[in-house]
Amino acid sequence: MLKSLNTQILVAAVLGIAFGWLLSLSPQSDWSGNSLYVLSLLSSFFIGLLKMLLIPLIFSSIVVGVANLQAVGNFGKAWKITLLCFFTTTTCALLLGLLCAHVFQPGVGLDISLFKDAMDAHHTPDTLSPSAFFTNFLQNTLINPFKAMAENNVLAVVIFALLLGAIIVSGRGKFQQVHDLFQQVFDMMMQLVKWVMVIAPLGIFALMAKLIATEDFAVLGSLAKFAAVVTGTTIFHGVVVLPLLLWIFGRVSPLRFFRVARPALITAFATSSSSATMPLSMQCAQNLGVRPQIVGFVVPLGAQLNMDGTALYEAAAALFIANLMGLELSITQQFIVCLTAMLASLGAPGIPSAGMVTMIMVLQSVGLPAEAIAILLPIDRILDTVRTVVNVQGDIMISAVVQHHIGDDDSSLQAPT
Ligand code: ASP
Repeated sequence: MLKSLNTQILVAAVLGIAFGWLLSLSPQSDWSGNSLYVLSLLSSFFIGLLKMLLIPLIFSSIVVGVANLQAVGNFGKAWKITLLCFFTTTTCALLLGLLCAHVFQPGVGLDISLFKDAMDAHHTPDTLSPSAFFTNFLQNTLINPFKAMAENNVLAVVIFALLLGAIIVSGRGKFQQVHDLFQQVFDMMMQLVKWVMVIAPLGIFALMAKLIATEDFAVLGSLAKFAAVVTGTTIFHGVVVLPLLLWIFGRVSPLRFFRVARPALITAFATSSSSATMPLSMQCAQNLGVRPQIVGFVVPLGAQLNMDGTALYEAAAALFIANLMGLELSITQQFIVCLTAMLASLGAPGIPSAGMVTMIMVLQSVGLPAEAIAILLPIDRILDTVRTVVNVQGDIMISAVVQHHIGDDDSSLQAPT
């Protein structure tokens, strides 16, 4: 069933691209308008279902994940390995972003005045200095958990769930009933995910067709070099760096990884949202052989905190803007860019174009004008597709690495073939 669903999703994505292209040939026609309307309905239906599951799934899976980690192995070790993996892969992505921006120098030779109108017309949100970012971060994360759930504030929900999981562990059996209750809620949510997956091919078809039919690919022209460098580097990170790390530290064959993780990766591409993709990421990680306890802990945390594609993009984009303005960033400034890009990727929610908002902080940290994001906005939706795939890929991959390292006698992860 799953194998065929995996194939169905791939076929749906290809058909969606073809149909979107057909629609873009006659944008003014009635049939194209009607088709777009139906596609919007279908994609909203699919995304709506995923979003509906998101908060209960994240909440129950983290509580259960943390509570169960104690039972399956070394809780402290799992934590450390997870955070170390997040840090290592994000650092690799940042360095790669900087390196490629240096080698290919996108933006050099382009004139910033070309983009003056866009920058003037753009209303920049409030300034986002690192100190303002931290204040915001605290104010938005340590809040009433019910409010957080109602407002889809994922980070606040994650923090409360982590605390609740830790309390269950510290109770040493005292809160067993609550633990069992959350376990059942989690099992029910995963069952619901399976139901929603039945319409995934239709949802992916609609999302892809809508994306291709409505994006203005013409604007890619003036920014083509930057778009190509960022996309190429992100793909390199996803196809070479991450699989290599997975093979070395998780002993999972890259081919097998891509085959099993394909539904989640295609969904990430089509939705540009790690959060919306999370239910699938968890399923794919389990299909890879990672135990539910580890999946439930690592994947939701990663969907919020681990975004290699976003970090890479933000670092490369800051250098691109500096090039456009004819500025050379010193080594210290580049280090600051990396640091803020890492923070920005931690704080960015897993929704479309979230990276654009936190990008303001990266630009401002080295004195670049925040209005410059107006230059990137027209191509952001397209670039967001690939970086979200890599964000999601990192989460699934790290769950396999964590499983490999905390020891697992009955692991079904296979060694490289
Ligand atoms: N869309 C990305 C994600 O959901 C975040 C970003 O805009 O970079 O992972």
